[in-house]
Amino acid sequence: MKARLREDLTALMRIPGLSGQEERVAAWLRARLDGLGLTHRTDRLGNLIATIPGDRSKPSVMIFTHMDQLGFIVRKVEPDGLIRVERLGGVSERAMAAQEVTLCGARGDIPGIILNKAHHATTPEEKYKVLTTPEIRIDTGHGSKAAVEAAGIRIGTPVVYAGRVIELAGDRIAGTSVDDRAGCAALLELARHRAGRVGPTLHLVWTVQEEFNLRGAVVAAQNLAPDIAIQIDLMLATDTPDMADRGEMSLGGGPGISLYSFHGRGTLNGVIPHPALVRLMEDTAAALALPLQRSAQVGVLTDLSYVQLLGDGVAAIDVGFPMRHSHSAVECCDLGDLAGLVRLLDGALDRIPPAMKLERD
Ligand SMILES: [Zn+2]
Repeated sequence: MKARLREDLTALMRIPGLSGQEERVAAWLRARLDGLGLTHRTDRLGNLIATIPGDRSKPSVMIFTHMDQLGFIVRKVEPDGLIRVERLGGVSERAMAAQEVTLCGARGDIPGIILNKAHHATTPEEKYKVLTTPEIRIDTGHGSKAAVEAAGIRIGTPVVYAGRVIELAGDRIAGTSVDDRAGCAALLELARHRAGRVGPTLHLVWTVQEEFNLRGAVVAAQNLAPDIAIQIDLMLATDTPDMADRGEMSLGGGPGISLYSFHGRGTLNGVIPHPALVRLMEDTAAALALPLQRSAQVGVLTDLSYVQLLGDGVAAIDVGFPMRHSHSAVECCDLGDLAGLVRLLDGALDRIPPAMKLERD
């Protein structure tokens, strides 16, 4: 399973898919779903949905993960051909300067670099100052506004970090948009395991616009009206010195569940998981002898926070894989954690009983 996850994740990390522009990621996934003989559809927002019909005496389950990645949008092309951008999503501006980017122009992808003032010329104050997105310039080498526009780049062109994959020792993979292409690869692997099996009715959904303030999943869930919603995304790895006081989540330590998430900076939303689903994950992990890590974090938010509020309320839980350096151009995960996550979800689906009690009395 790890070899397949490595192959899929590597391919997915190299496909540009800024929020609102997920079509190329979806097309890649659709081809794999076709190969599995799974029917699928895409809603008007772009969410890709594959439903595996199941036992109607069991609650229906939607498991979802987002296809989009954060990045930038062109807001102005200067006369000298340098490109100014707005940020789309929570870009880590500390890690932005001198990165390679891909501009998804009307005539194809164009490489560019984010300028960084020559170190030899920086003043003492500039040396320790982080540039914000409105201050940066991107150079594509074209040299003039006319040449940039002739290459198909104009206001509104999507820009993402250039897709790259760095295979570290063992099972560790670093590179672009591990958040949340690792989730996309895990959900595809789960689809392979569930195709042709009978369990609860299962909606596998690859969602859009998560990095654009959590917009896509709620539309899919509104339509599918699941009883249970399970969201796959990163969990903050806290096993580096700079993160040590934030928790006990280690890279390579197995999949995790979130017991509490709250954004708390602007978006006052979060998820307190349904206790029956916490038990389901804990019991499944114990039965399969899988390690299961726990997360409780302020500053973290997923699209599940909106999904849980639909209809009579949807029983909800966030599951995920530990990840380092979130929202920078080089994120890092461990394939063993992804494989464990797939086994956890597959096992949990098998353990959902008929008429599972989800009422909170
Ligand atoms: Zn994410």
